[in-house]
Amino acid sequence: MRFDIITIFPDLFTSFLSESLLAKALAKKIIEIRLTTPRTYTTDRHHTADDRPYGGGPGMVLKPEPMSAAILAASKGRIKPWRIFLSPSGARLTQTRVRELSQKKRLLLICGRYEGLDQRVIDQLADEEISIGDYVVNGGEVPAMVLIEAVARLLPGFMGRSESADEESHQAGLLEYPHYTRPPEFRGARVPEVLLSGHHREVAEWRLKASLARTLETRPELLARADLPPGAVRSLAGLHRPQKKS
Ligand code: SAM
Repeated sequence: MRFDIITIFPDLFTSFLSESLLAKALAKKIIEIRLTTPRTYTTDRHHTADDRPYGGGPGMVLKPEPMSAAILAASKGRIKPWRIFLSPSGARLTQTRVRELSQKKRLLLICGRYEGLDQRVIDQLADEEISIGDYVVNGGEVPAMVLIEAVARLLPGFMGRSESADEESHQAGLLEYPHYTRPPEFRGARVPEVLLSGHHREVAEWRLKASLARTLETRPELLARADLPPGAVRSLAGLHRPQKKS
């Protein structure tokens, strides 16, 4: 999959793209990333990409001419990119949307800065606005990184074992079960015995139950929409079973 990123701070992506699984995915050509800066498309000596907002008020706004020129230049090619403006006003990113986006061939991510981007560019050139959550960060670069990681890790070959993504939090609408590694006892806390048993069916049952219990405790609203695996209802009933009076 190809990602194009429109940003006035392309260097922010240097270490992000040069470490760990993303660097490997780039080397294996599972993903391709191109950075375009609107400063290339400015006409003044200082490469000014922002200006004061009409109507007054604090902060600066990304200018429409260099931003649109950068977006159009980066959009060229045989396959038209799906263009996303990262914005706190956008629809909140979910694993379902991430899965849908991972089916696209090309994504173009537009990073805002300062007070934001001139609305006309968003209206004319963005296919969708996406927010990474109900809070505000300084620019669209970190949200773009979040989106790239979330999408890229669903692409075939990105992760060592293809099933790694299948059991993760949100994949089936549930939160994932807890993980443990050696040693079997750490500061007085033991790994649940069933995980040491080597009994695959019991491990699977324990994990399903732990996953349901965690979702019920911290994100109960997810259960209504969850794609529950066989046995989940029985497990849930067990979790709810009223305590017997002694
Ligand atoms: N004035 C804007 C507002 O109140 O909605 C916030 C601007 S923010 C400081 C600058 C840029 O960061 C935004 O244009 C957007 O590209 C990006 N940004 C900030 N928070 C974001 C979020 N939660 N999701 C996606 N992008 C975000």
